[in-house]
Amino acid sequence: MGILEGKKLLITGVLMDSSIAFHVAKIAQQEGATVVLTSFGRTMKITQTIAKRLPETPAVIELDVANQEHLDTLAERLREHVDGLDGVLHSIGFAPQGAFNFMEGTWEDVSTALQISAYSLKSLTAATLPLMPEGGSVVGLTFDAKFAWPVYDWMGVAKAAFESTNRYLARDLGSKDVRCNLVAAGPIRTTAAKSIPGFEQFEKIWDERAPLGWDVNDPVPAAKACAALLSDWFPATTGEIVHVDGGVHAMGQ
Ligand code: NAD
Repeated sequence: MGILEGKKLLITGVLMDSSIAFHVAKIAQQEGATVVLTSFGRTMKITQTIAKRLPETPAVIELDVANQEHLDTLAERLREHVDGLDGVLHSIGFAPQGAFNFMEGTWEDVSTALQISAYSLKSLTAATLPLMPEGGSVVGLTFDAKFAWPVYDWMGVAKAAFESTNRYLARDLGSKDVRCNLVAAGPIRTTAAKSIPGFEQFEKIWDERAPLGWDVNDPVPAAKACAALLSDWFPATTGEIVHVDGGVHAMGQ
């Protein structure tokens, strides 16, 4: 029996088959879950095409996390496909190019990064909570926000807010027996990563520092950790950040 047998999961963030979320969806289906995907705007068609590469083609519903109407109607639209949710994957990140220059980034750039990449963890969780019974699991993806990295700049600040949001959600949802955890992944060559100017600097850091080694073309280790956190195998873990980074976070240099 798979670790996600019978689970119903909402998985955001499938854009291409390089997306971390694509691999979470694939593993989830292989482990017995029913999956519903979200996408939005012009990327809906791309997601629908990529979804056909999964073991079973899932439904794709529209969700732009900056669109309050999409959020307000999400539970109702999800009910057309599933009668409840056991887990939600937040795999969403966006910052305007200006946010990748710390001293020059405007509030407009920064506020967009914060809304889409941090606040959305709360919005998405609140929108799906009516469908989540006790034992539900919310999982998101971060890039370790303890440090000031090269080039990450206001996206790094947004990830720090995202990590804090995870802890506050854990505080407020614990009494409903809903867990909220993050996976801190090392650098992976996805569409979002390619939009970061100078992303190759991370690849160099991971080449030099990962005791286990690190493959920037392999989203599977991060995806497996997400699947594990969505399962019943972490029943007493919430507000946590699990590092899937080849060990870089633990090294002094
Ligand atoms: P990706 O480009 O494949 O996925 C990003 C997703 O965010 C896309 O599906 C995009 O449609 C979605 N998105 C953007 N704006 C949105 C909005 N307004 N509403 C709804 N969805 C929106 O890239 P990825 O690397 O798989 O990113 C997934 C998550 O993993 C992000 O949170 C990212 O920060 C995180 N992460 C990535 C890396 C990496 O190196 N790739 C490392 C650590 C963490």
